[in-house]
Amino acid sequence: MHESTNTPNNNQAFSSLNLTPELLKNLSSLGYEKMTPIQAQSLPEMLAGKDVIAQGKTGSGKTAAFGLALLEKLQVKRFRIQSMILCPTRELADQVAKEIRKLARAIHNIKVLTLCGGTPFGPQIGSLEHGAHIIVGTPGRIEEHVIKGTLKLDDLNLLILDEADRMLEMGFEAALDNIIDRTPVDRQTLLFSATFPKQIKAISESIMTEPTLIKVSASEDKSNINQHFYHVADDEERFEATRLLLMANPVESTVIFCNTKKETQAVCQSLHNDGFSVLALHGDLEQRDRDQTLLRFANKSVAILVATDVAARGLDIDSLDVVINYHIAHDSEVHIHRIGRTGRAGSSGIALSIYSDKESYKVGLLEDELDQTIKAELLPASDILAKPRLQAKMATIQIDGGKKQKVRPGDILGALTAKGSSAIKGADVGKINVLDNKAYVAVNKKALKLALEKLSKGKMKGRSFKVRYLAV
Ligand code: AMP
Repeated sequence: MHESTNTPNNNQAFSSLNLTPELLKNLSSLGYEKMTPIQAQSLPEMLAGKDVIAQGKTGSGKTAAFGLALLEKLQVKRFRIQSMILCPTRELADQVAKEIRKLARAIHNIKVLTLCGGTPFGPQIGSLEHGAHIIVGTPGRIEEHVIKGTLKLDDLNLLILDEADRMLEMGFEAALDNIIDRTPVDRQTLLFSATFPKQIKAISESIMTEPTLIKVSASEDKSNINQHFYHVADDEERFEATRLLLMANPVESTVIFCNTKKETQAVCQSLHNDGFSVLALHGDLEQRDRDQTLLRFANKSVAILVATDVAARGLDIDSLDVVINYHIAHDSEVHIHRIGRTGRAGSSGIALSIYSDKESYKVGLLEDELDQTIKAELLPASDILAKPRLQAKMATIQIDGGKKQKVRPGDILGALTAKGSSAIKGADVGKINVLDNKAYVAVNKKALKLALEKLSKGKMKGRSFKVRYLAV
């Protein structure tokens, strides 16, 4: 393995790469003006056809990095499965597929298919029979398909492992082996991972050919994130500090990271009792509830999400304004990963970390990693707590009909904004998510009552659907 000798250059333009003009044009229409450090370092290697191991966390622009390499390599006219991306969770797979479709929108007829667990197997067989260029999915389900023979990988020339460390942590090693065994040996392999435990080294040695290692240093990555640290004496003070920091930073979207599920639940409950707009996200929740929580946070119906690290994996919110570390993370890499959820690709973000004496050694480790001295700052004065809590601007309405009932976002928007004595303005309608059997629409709270009325009385696809407001 050799390390990339490219000097990282944050200002590098995409046009310095040999990309097809359609892809380049689309990048500028997406507002991607310059490459992020990981893109600048990994793209030349990947485009040259080399195997690459890259340290890529969420927020670094890693998806676009491998997505561009993938699209550049793809031969659209050959309607065969040519590339496959394996992800640890369904949420991440969905996001990756979304980003690839976004990058590919200037090229016609590219078919991306997601294959994840937690969804029925049968329809996936049907989709596979229709064919695809690109597969994105989770190892368990993909393994099932390759074993059953419903997914054939003979034409695969690019394999991407995303968040490889997480896949190993989740016990997917055997599934990965099984899948990789059924891919052509002359393929190109790319591996993205936030951390590099020994297992990753072992795996990379067995599945990759002379890979280039690309590491983006922590100091380079954190540049647009303002970090602040606060010292507390005990857990009571810790909760108080959290309330003060929330009040002093009234923003649309904040994530509070806790180290355990129990703490996640307790902090969420206490904040809720205190009038904050908050939901919890952790692994004990049913997948359906997790999906719903993520969706409500992303559509701005909830201002604060209290989450564990594992549950927050794959959380993709473009405008996450503030990250609060209720405790300092167990290790520095996790800390850097957490705070990287704010200050995404170019915009600036705020990371607030609370610690007690017991965690001082972790602060010491962070100082080494970040190469800076950490000084505790004063907490805001407590009179700020007398002010009203910031409430989310939007509210989510659940509609008991989805793709299977042929409900489309346009139908929902149409029903809401239909002319009449009381139309709702398009600007008051937020994100619309249509799932298999349900759909969710965010509306401005001012328009909630009217929206519920219009959706329950009005018709979509010639029939009416049950609707309900999801109160926080
Ligand atoms: P990721 O690390 O792949 O989760 O990407 C983080 C976010 O940055 C995504 O919302 C991307 O759409 C966005 N992004 C990726 N590359 C760029 C870029 N070069 N310029 C601006 N935004 C980007």
